[in-house]
Amino acid sequence: MSVVTRFAPSPTGLLHLGHAYSAWVGWQAARAAGGRFLLRIEDIDPGRCRPEYDAAIREDLAWLGLGWDGPVLRQSDRLAAYAEALQRLSDLGVLYPCFCTRKDIQAEIARLGQAPHGPDGPLYPGTCRHLDPAEREARLARGEAHAVRLDVGLADRLAGPLAWHDHEEGRQTARPALLGDVILARKDSPASYHLSVVVDDAAQGVTLVTRGRDLFHATHLHRLLQALLGYAVPLYHHHGLITDEAGRRLAKRSDAAALRALRAAGASPAEIRARLERGTDLSAAPAGR
Ligand code: GLU
Repeated sequence: MSVVTRFAPSPTGLLHLGHAYSAWVGWQAARAAGGRFLLRIEDIDPGRCRPEYDAAIREDLAWLGLGWDGPVLRQSDRLAAYAEALQRLSDLGVLYPCFCTRKDIQAEIARLGQAPHGPDGPLYPGTCRHLDPAEREARLARGEAHAVRLDVGLADRLAGPLAWHDHEEGRQTARPALLGDVILARKDSPASYHLSVVVDDAAQGVTLVTRGRDLFHATHLHRLLQALLGYAVPLYHHHGLITDEAGRRLAKRSDAAALRALRAAGASPAEIRARLERGTDLSAAPAGR
């Protein structure tokens, strides 16, 4: 099977060294295996994505010499595919509408005194999962704004035990409940990151997902969505995150590390690629590997 990797940035800012490292890991894995490296622009968050960053990302990648194969996929062109996947999940009976605002959720967590925690903070307390069916129907009939959540406990039981494989950590038993009843479609956007990424990795035939370790937990859930939707399961390589000289993770908007800033300061593509080849520690000595 030929290797297909992808780089899937969200156009919410300029590419910096952290993104470039992620792109390089995917590009390198594809090139080493004689496979394909795809570019996907994850631009469905209307509040945060801007077209000028999409253009800047393509330009910076091309400048760096990390060329991609075939056409660029833009998630904003894929809404029908996400709606279809959402409908299939809904037909399985594993989704429910959630009318809660952020404030409602905070109030409910405060009322409960203690809420289960996931890797990213408190989990959704399940308020709307327990709604009386008649009330749920009435609120839907009134056209009340709502998100769509996955009943992860139910979905997990339906799918049965699942596993996936990480290049560094080895075989993983899927624990999709780690993130709780995640949102799959939002009030202002027809697909969440979790749904769109799973749908697109399958549609694009991605065989090796390379992305930062910050998304490791999300893969437990993605594995469940793949099972429910009948998709092939890619391999995963969750790579380390680039840290600055003090060992801190580079901030997403670290201007000093933006490729444009490095370029303006005279860095060449070859220098930056040599830097990426040395790994995630920015203080690593050039003579290292
Ligand atoms: N769009 C996501 C981000 O920029 C990455 C998604 C992924 O690689 O799965 O953080």
